[in-house]
Amino acid sequence: MASVDNDCLFCKIVSGDLPTKYLYEDENIIAFRDINPQAPTHILVIPKDHIAYAADINEKHSDLIFSMINRANKLASEEGISSDGYRLVINNGKGAGQTVFHLHLHLLGGRPMLWPPG
Ligand code: 5GP
Ligand code: ZN
Repeated sequence: MASVDNDCLFCKIVSGDLPTKYLYEDENIIAFRDINPQAPTHILVIPKDHIAYAADINEKHSDLIFSMINRANKLASEEGISSDGYRLVINNGKGAGQTVFHLHLHLLGGRPMLWPPG
């Protein structure tokens, strides 16, 4: 049974209540462009199931986490940003900049990425 939070913005994107163009969809994950891009390519890869925090991940999610990162790598190739380098980010908790409490992997690239991040 899929886990859904009716108050969650990304659950609404998964359900279609908030219409969003998917770049990718399979049984377990979707990918779509960030509404407020921080780089020329800024894509979010999310599980369909509502998982609030990266800190909630456990062994049961290993296939899911693999498929999210694998998909981000493939999308980076499709976007033509692989050879220059790209960044994969998960913000865990408010203090780390998490604003949507449904797990999401940011794929950022297409410009030089600075370190340390802000
Ligand atoms: P966080 O700050 O939680 O790591 O990342 C949340 C991301 O979701 C932000 O980069 C924000 O721009 C993006 N976002 C927030 N609302 C929407 C939306 O309705 N549609 C899309 N496509 N992205 C969103
Ligand atoms: Zn959710």
